[in-house]
Amino acid sequence: MKIICIGRNYREHAKELNNPIPTEPMVFMKPSSALLLDNKPFYHPEFSKNIHYELEIVLKISKNGRHIQPEFAHKYVDQVALGIDFTARDLQEKCKKNGHPWEIAKGFDGSAVLSPFVPIQDIQNIDNIEFYLEKNGTRVQHGFTKDLIFSFTDLIVYVSQFFTLNQGDIIYTGTPEGVGPVAIGDVLNGYLVTQRGAAHLLSCEVK
Ligand code: MG
Repeated sequence: MKIICIGRNYREHAKELNNPIPTEPMVFMKPSSALLLDNKPFYHPEFSKNIHYELEIVLKISKNGRHIQPEFAHKYVDQVALGIDFTARDLQEKCKKNGHPWEIAKGFDGSAVLSPFVPIQDIQNIDNIEFYLEKNGTRVQHGFTKDLIFSFTDLIVYVSQFFTLNQGDIIYTGTPEGVGPVAIGDVLNGYLVTQRGAAHLLSCEVK
């Protein structure tokens, strides 16, 4: 399976890191060894002094497709989850400065935290999913997918031009503003608002 990620997909987040607003989706990938499931702890790696959390809505691809047209894009996603795109911000800055690829800053072990999936039917309005992250009990990120620069449809159309999407692939759709560092001992809790209220889908302790 592929872990496809989108960078800078919320204006306020692009601004907080002093990045330009993209005119096309910015795509990168993580290896499957990055996955961190079942609320397992995240072990802070020694190679970075500045690991940031980024809470994101994650799409699960339900069937194979390539060159997917906009009118059919919704048929390729049947479940959504929360994910944390852990980022070694210090390594990323170095990679950016040198014009190097990002993988070591984005794809290290445990960098793709993933919650259980929720069927799309459980979401009140798929065009405006509300989600938020608490760090040590304080809300630090609060997103609404109506604020996405590139919608879920845009992303599926764009990505499937380059990569065949296979059943089971996942897409991290970008983070809203409020990203910040984690320290050993921090506890991150992620919530997704469903038809039955806020669902506590994700919990991750930094060790
Ligand atoms: Mg991200």
